[in-house]
Amino acid sequence: MTSVTAPRSMVCFDHVSCSYGNGPVIENVDLTIAPGEFVGIVGPSGSGKTTLLRAMLGSVKPVHGSVMRSAGLRVAYVPQLETVDWNFPVTVSEVVAMSRPQRSWWPRLHADEKSEIERVLEHLGLAGLSSRHIRELSGGQQQRVFLARALMQKPDLLVLDEPTAGVDVRTRHEVLHVLADLNESAPDRRDGQSGIAIVLTTHDLNGLAAHLPRLICFNRTVVADGAPTDVLKPYFLERTYGAPMEVLQHGGMPVVLEQGSDELRLRLSRRGA
Ligand code: ADP
Ligand code: MG
Repeated sequence: MTSVTAPRSMVCFDHVSCSYGNGPVIENVDLTIAPGEFVGIVGPSGSGKTTLLRAMLGSVKPVHGSVMRSAGLRVAYVPQLETVDWNFPVTVSEVVAMSRPQRSWWPRLHADEKSEIERVLEHLGLAGLSSRHIRELSGGQQQRVFLARALMQKPDLLVLDEPTAGVDVRTRHEVLHVLADLNESAPDRRDGQSGIAIVLTTHDLNGLAAHLPRLICFNRTVVADGAPTDVLKPYFLERTYGAPMEVLQHGGMPVVLEQGSDELRLRLSRRGA
């Protein structure tokens, strides 16, 4: 990983390809993330979104090209909740405490570390839940616990893999509002910036992606990159998903419709007749 000093770029992908051994899963990716940005990545399952995030974090190395990160950049990762073992006997405060570099167990933490954890939990609306088992939380609370753990690292860039997968509409709103707050202003920023840069992946085109300031359509490589109104176009969507999609405008916002859904509805409704 090389360091760059250009102030307007936190992370810069230059012709990046990554592989797990059987040929590239992402190819020729050019991408720049600047401080304070809020970026969504959309694409079908298996298109390489998680691999792209791993390359951003440095946990997957490019086989071609380079990923440059600004000197001293702190990146924190919030994994997909589906990958978490919910039966692991661990409480909210213990999950957050595990973010510490020394990975101390909660009872052995200093009082000031405990109070820092309590402060982050309170900031995310989780005060009073610190001794609760993580399985006994709502989907939105679980997502915020892992967000709290990421925030303990005082990141400049927060990377989230499908933060709203499998959650209901209310929880999605809740998670998005917390993220918007952190993007606008986060506690304890070190670099004079007020907010944290955020990169997330999502399958939710209308409920999430269309609301973000910048969107990347991704399928093994960057298909389109820009404002949702410029990116959510039938041409780019078909190239990304391999299926025709229609885009309507509603209140100045793009709304993506899958073509063929009318036909499917007709077929299924005939059965009930
Ligand atoms: P997405 O997040 O868009 O669903 P992924 O980045 O998880 O896509 O996967 C991209 C491709 O890489 C898929 O074909 C997947 O099977 C493969 N892949 C992902 N992780 C691994 C791994 N650890 N080892 C081997 N192949 C992997
Ligand atoms: Mg994925």
